[in-house]
Amino acid sequence: MSTAFFETPIEYLKGVGPKRADLLKKELKIFTFYDLLTFFPFRYVDKSKFYNINQINNDFTYVQLCGKIISIDTIGSNIRNQRLVAKLEDNTGIIELVWFKGLKWIKNSLTLNKEYIVFGKPNYFKNKFNITHPEIELKEAHNNSDFKETFQAFYFSTEKLKAKGLNSKGISKLIKTLCLSAKGIIPETLNEDIIKSLKLISREQALLNIHLPKNINLLKQAQRRLKFEELFFIQLQLLKQKLKTKQTVKGHKFLTVGKYFNNFYHNNLPFKLTNAQKRVIKEIRVDTGSGKQMNRLLQGDVGSGKTLVALMTMLIALDNNYQCCLMAPTEILANQHFNTITKMLEGINVNIALLTGSTKTTKRNEIYEQLLNKKLQILIGTHALIEDKVKFNNLGLVVIDEQHKFGVAQRAKLWEKNNIPPHVLVMTATPIPRTLAMTIYSDLDISVIDDLPPGRKSIKTYHFKDSDRLKVFGFMKRQILKGQQIYIVFPLIEESEKLDLKDLMDGYESIVREFPLPEYAVSIVHGRMKNQDKNFEMQRFIKGETQIMVATTVIEVGVDIPKASVMIIENAERFGLSQLHQLRGRVGRGADQAYCILMTKDKLSEDAAKRIKIMTSTNDGFIIAKADLELRGPGVFNGTQQSGVLNLKIADIVKDEKILIYSKKLALEILNDDIELHKPKYRPLAEHLAFINKNKTNWSVIS
Ligand code: ADP
Ligand code: MG
Repeated sequence: MSTAFFETPIEYLKGVGPKRADLLKKELKIFTFYDLLTFFPFRYVDKSKFYNINQINNDFTYVQLCGKIISIDTIGSNIRNQRLVAKLEDNTGIIELVWFKGLKWIKNSLTLNKEYIVFGKPNYFKNKFNITHPEIELKEAHNNSDFKETFQAFYFSTEKLKAKGLNSKGISKLIKTLCLSAKGIIPETLNEDIIKSLKLISREQALLNIHLPKNINLLKQAQRRLKFEELFFIQLQLLKQKLKTKQTVKGHKFLTVGKYFNNFYHNNLPFKLTNAQKRVIKEIRVDTGSGKQMNRLLQGDVGSGKTLVALMTMLIALDNNYQCCLMAPTEILANQHFNTITKMLEGINVNIALLTGSTKTTKRNEIYEQLLNKKLQILIGTHALIEDKVKFNNLGLVVIDEQHKFGVAQRAKLWEKNNIPPHVLVMTATPIPRTLAMTIYSDLDISVIDDLPPGRKSIKTYHFKDSDRLKVFGFMKRQILKGQQIYIVFPLIEESEKLDLKDLMDGYESIVREFPLPEYAVSIVHGRMKNQDKNFEMQRFIKGETQIMVATTVIEVGVDIPKASVMIIENAERFGLSQLHQLRGRVGRGADQAYCILMTKDKLSEDAAKRIKIMTSTNDGFIIAKADLELRGPGVFNGTQQSGVLNLKIADIVKDEKILIYSKKLALEILNDDIELHKPKYRPLAEHLAFINKNKTNWSVIS
């Protein structure tokens, strides 16, 4: 097999050279011939179609015309605003072609009264259409050219690449060169049976036609084949990993449910478990008792009661004489877990500790020691848990809360804290649509909490514009009078951290002015504060000493304060859907009617308006996640992006659900037949998998 050709560094392609190679690597992560060959167009334009000038309307993104140039004029007196305008005429009308750059060169290359083929994007300007910087070619030359594109492929590019001549067209040129030399040596990656039964075209056909489609039919077949292949190999990889882990990795066997669990269940459980909670705990018990390592993802909407499931799982671990740990993404959340769990276990003799970045050295050393001599049973904390110094005596269970906030590597590190790897329960409140979960978590088993604790009133969500702020203040005052507490959240996005901080402080000051002491008290929490101060402010709010909490998104995940029933989100247009949903999930945790108010500037972009509309029309996290996925693509799921699995090049998780389901089924069948893919018929699969793993530029395995 000619993998060597595909592994050739990109600088060796004719037309690339070291400088462009550098940019291709940096900007597009294209390192090798293979990377370029699998850099797919994002759009095609049918160039077999010609339009008349009078047919152009606002719906046209691109148009191809044929006509005569009847005038060429340079307009504007100084170099700065000079432009070249040529008039193109056909039987139906006249349209202006406009250039702002390269005027001289273009002027010299155009000939009056000759017929041209013109291609470009029509703009509507001063009551008529024009085309700026069109592609233009003499009709004669066009007809004689030996390579006539019926479909022109468009490639993503960046400003830096464009500056080096690598706009869509430039990239397309490189790919053509590559395709020519790759012809005849592109290896097949699927075995005969699959190709036949799915009626796929060959890989070579597919790759050539995805870049240079001969016709629409071949283009569609190329897309189908490459989408299938992409999803299929991801599934093959993940499932192979999962099945092998199941076969080879031994797990702790939690055989008994004993005094810790029962004592809690009968004496301390403050409410009845929901049916979903019961079901999930059963699933976990089966897993942890099986002798194999559990790797389970617990999905449940915000407020569905995942913490309790985690706690009860930990108690089973204690009953079997193992230690456990619970890791949360923020210090605020770790603190909260420590407090609630300590309180829930009141009267039951369990040794719990909290380990975060702010834990003092003496306390820290005490924790390290007690972990080793097994005195400590439950350790709760932040990333601090991952540090090498944290060594357990016998770690039986790891719980990771809000796992989408963590990277793969961080999770993997906790595995290594015991010879026999601990059972792993990862929890997420970001509801991931089923298809997506199937792809990225093929190696995890999934449990879902699909009902909320009883008595929750659904949160009422309203949209207000900045100009209506006084109404919102009035509403806040009425709520506070009723004894409710209020969050006001400001965006904090890294790139403009300074500006955001200013917004936050301005907002805080105007709130303090509007809600003065002694009648009202306001807390503030943001990322720049010391952890100690953050905790102090949080505690004041939790205790009800303050009525309003002004904060950045540091309170986004997990925070649970039942008396807070109003969530006001400032600049809501700047937040993504899943973030808005997470924030809204901070309220509605008690029995009182909860409200979420989305404040935005008066004028909204189309996308922002859509997001606001979705938020005001549903509370269902799954619907919101699905909408998010459709609006923004799979990259929206933070942690999953780090997993890399979702850098899909051609398949679309939402649109290609059927292909995904099928590819998973097929991958499973094949692995059940021959997990090592040693049989001769699976050779192409094994070889391609090896190739992917060797050239692992864009996807890795989650563990
Ligand atoms: P999340 O799933 O978002 O992490 P939490 O675990 O923080 O949710 O639970 C949200 C709130 O619901 C907490 O105040 C918790 O005490 C409460 N809760 C959990 N389970 C139940 C239940 N079965 N009945 C009533 N309230 C519950
Ligand atoms: Mg939680």
